[in-house]
Amino acid sequence: MTGRTHDAIAFASLVTVAGLYPPNSITIGTFFACVVGNIIGAALPDMDQESNKLWDLLPAGDTIGSIFRRVFLGHRTLSHSLIGVFIFYKIFEWVLPRVFNSSFVDPQLVLFSVMIGTISHLAGDALTKDGIPLLFPFPVKFGFPPIRAFRITTDSWMEKYVVMPSVFLYLVWFLQSQKDNLLTLLKNVS
Ligand SMILES: [Zn+2]
Repeated sequence: MTGRTHDAIAFASLVTVAGLYPPNSITIGTFFACVVGNIIGAALPDMDQESNKLWDLLPAGDTIGSIFRRVFLGHRTLSHSLIGVFIFYKIFEWVLPRVFNSSFVDPQLVLFSVMIGTISHLAGDALTKDGIPLLFPFPVKFGFPPIRAFRITTDSWMEKYVVMPSVFLYLVWFLQSQKDNLLTLLKNVS
């Protein structure tokens, strides 16, 4: 799947969790850190690709990227597995409380938002023909639906004209159906 589709699915997932389980209070700093964290989380698994936008954010990102990409052991391997998700979780669980002052930004909520992005990325890639190696290093690929022929090809018309609009329609429907919860959440941003 393309980065744009991953961003859209991640954002829809974040809004869904926020609407179903709204936090009682949230600072404006936490609010924005969660949205940005979610987008970063959605891009994390594809850091195994040179074109990943996260490398552009780092100074000398291309050089660092070419070294660290070897850590990922090839495209769609470690970073698209349960072990990979666990490693990302541990890294962010350690980093976030050290980056943010907890009186302005709640690191726990940001951590959840990052992970929602990452997990939604894997769910998105599971819809593609390649599937994902969830149990890496075991070389079994998982996809949904299980029959490969019914899954989509990355950047195909299916992704652009069916998946993207479906995510958008879902979001409109969800915002409508949960608008009370979401408005309360927005009012609680301080
Ligand atoms: Zn991916």
